[in-house]
Amino acid sequence: MSEYGFNTNILHGTAINDPHGATHMPVYQNSAFCYETAEELEKVFNNKAFGFSYTRINNPTVESFEKRITMLEKGIASVACASGMAALCNAMLNILQAGDEIVAAAGLYGGTVELFEDFEAYGIHTVYVTENTPEAYEEKITEKTRLIFAETIGNPKLDVTDIKAIAETAHRNGLPLLIDNTVATPCLVRPIELGADIVVHSSSKYINGNSDAISGIIVWSGKFRWDAERYPGMAAYRKFGPMAYVAKLRNGLFRSFGACLSPQNAFLNNLGLETLGLRMERQCRNALELAEYLQTIGADLQVEYPGLKSSAYHELAEKQFGGRFGAILTLRVGSKERAFRMINSLKLPLILSNIGDTKTLVIHPASTIAAHLTEEAQIQSGVYGDQIRVSVGIEDIEDLKKDFLQAYENTREEQAAEG
Ligand SMILES: *Cc1c(COP(=O)(O)O)cnc(C)c1O
Repeated sequence: MSEYGFNTNILHGTAINDPHGATHMPVYQNSAFCYETAEELEKVFNNKAFGFSYTRINNPTVESFEKRITMLEKGIASVACASGMAALCNAMLNILQAGDEIVAAAGLYGGTVELFEDFEAYGIHTVYVTENTPEAYEEKITEKTRLIFAETIGNPKLDVTDIKAIAETAHRNGLPLLIDNTVATPCLVRPIELGADIVVHSSSKYINGNSDAISGIIVWSGKFRWDAERYPGMAAYRKFGPMAYVAKLRNGLFRSFGACLSPQNAFLNNLGLETLGLRMERQCRNALELAEYLQTIGADLQVEYPGLKSSAYHELAEKQFGGRFGAILTLRVGSKERAFRMINSLKLPLILSNIGDTKTLVIHPASTIAAHLTEEAQIQSGVYGDQIRVSVGIEDIEDLKKDFLQAYENTREEQAAEG
């Protein structure tokens, strides 16, 4: 199906195969699947025949979502999870053990930083690079390192990872590269095409698109060769060849943790996914236009967006994403008080901790999603006290511009009155 474009592939690239001709994979709201004979079930349980057994392990609706994401991300298999955090946790613990180290980007999603703090209790230590360059990762690699981790576009730092260069650095050191592609989506970039080994999504965001289901997914490239000494847990799964990573996950941690995706949420994701390309096209265009506009309305607004020529990541983003830059921008407005007043003055954006909705969303990261970090760690993560994060939706751009302008002018007057 690779002769088709992104949108056609989403719609027609995987078969539904429903006996009644359903146009969407129906919700198989079943816990378990029965067989005619004990022999058949024995085969399914022992990987001798393919079949569905129990929804914590696999399910037809969940599988149809997995197949579509595998196709879009150019992997060979996927495992859908209950949330983005469950996907990250499963993807990493499938290969790590006590004593191992992760080298990770700075400016990561706050929940992931908290996950790395939780890992410390199990002897897994994370070292952060201060700059998102291949040299910075290389410098932090030790004989204990077992994984390199970065987000395609850092949230909310909005730094852009040079996936190709960092994959080369990882592979030169015998390490796999795991990329969280939530913010960019496969619409902008397929990290596996650039050398990443594992891709994770919080599909709660752009993939779902309507904020109606929490979910996550792990996509496996099939390419990384696991060294038996460095990754002893993988040894027993070598017989699965390029599928070893997913075979270990499905037969091990994934079924033991039980953080499976519910069939209902897989169905909602399948519906939302059909318009991913359309939404991203519109949201990226809106974000660029809004960012450029905000740059012109006042020198006291500092706008950060990879699509702006002023962004340090503009050139890399242009090259890696082919002229689209994602739909998240940040604004620095001078003080926390003004950031709050501006957020409260905006009429259209919803105030909440989410990204990737069709509606425009705003948040003050320093007091919410990054509140657990020290001020120093916040700055390293690209979080500032006077900063507003905007997840740009599909509204009519003129309405968004007008709304941001009135919020800007309102809060400027108040500041002048106070001064
Ligand atoms: C939201 C998010 C997550 C966590 O996903 P959940 O579905 O909320 O568990 C991980 N990474 C990034 C970049 C996110 O934006």
